[in-house]
Amino acid sequence: MGNTSALILAAALALGAATQTESRSAGSRWIGAVDPQAAEEVRREVIESMPHRVDRAAAAASNMCGVAWGTIQWSVELRRPPLGARGAAACVTDRGGSIAAHRVIVFPSLLARDADEIDETLRHELIHVLHREAAGSGAERAPTWIQEGIVVTLTGEGPVLLARALASSLGAKPSAASDPHLEGFLRVLGAAERLQKSASVLAREWIRSQTPTALAAASFGVAEADLEAASQEASRRAWARAASAGREEAAILRDLCESAPVDEALTRLVRYRSEHPNSWYWTVPAVALAERCLASAAAAPLRRLQDLLEEKRNYLPDDARARWERVRRSLAVAPNR
Ligand SMILES: [Zn+2]
Repeated sequence: MGNTSALILAAALALGAATQTESRSAGSRWIGAVDPQAAEEVRREVIESMPHRVDRAAAAASNMCGVAWGTIQWSVELRRPPLGARGAAACVTDRGGSIAAHRVIVFPSLLARDADEIDETLRHELIHVLHREAAGSGAERAPTWIQEGIVVTLTGEGPVLLARALASSLGAKPSAASDPHLEGFLRVLGAAERLQKSASVLAREWIRSQTPTALAAASFGVAEADLEAASQEASRRAWARAASAGREEAAILRDLCESAPVDEALTRLVRYRSEHPNSWYWTVPAVALAERCLASAAAAPLRRLQDLLEEKRNYLPDDARARWERVRRSLAVAPNR
């Protein structure tokens, strides 16, 4: 145990954290409820599952990026977010000249979410830790899009982010500043295509490099000074390619699902989906159609939509996902409607 962790643990014990749990199998660390107030906000069984979750996420993160944990000092801690902090988990690096220990801070709001989301977030943050360890200060100096692009490519979050953005945008690319994760993924995709490599192979090369920025520039075939412009252009092209699948028909489909007779809209939606297997534009209209089916007690079309939407649930944009969850809850209450 590193000195910092020992201090935190001592402080937590002094504060009387009732739900303290700790795991140190195979080098992984869950320093449970560092902040007793934070622990109170989280269900006990979630806290009890954390040592196991952290172990599993640590093994998965190491596999995904091909970097071993070795002697890296790290911990995952439950704390209340600093005032104004958004998001579920943050990755902090302690340093005294060089990296001394890594800490992933988990906020109570994360532990209130789905089990899948907790695991996904832990993997994500732990890959940042491995990257910072492998690339040293090179990781910190790399632009945000490189840091996030590497991580979401390796965790598989990238395709999900892309699908969500496509489904909600009808083809208009979100601004690069609005989400460095999506932007990073698109730029990694662009570089991978230029090199004719898989994106995850490329991300693994970048993650192990002490000069990720220079390596990224080389991947785009430009000098480091030109990296930003070249990667922006690659991102734009990667988006345009993904966005072109069935864009024109998508607007028609949206109108149909919102106003045409349910059976006609469903037929068109199913046909659209089989004709455009790589398009995500059908998912949000499908949610609108499901809401109409529920309102008019159209049970058979609703079952059909449920089959289509259930496997894409995690790929729905946030607002559409919330609407679909409401439909599902109504179905659970009145299954024979
Ligand atoms: Zn991140």
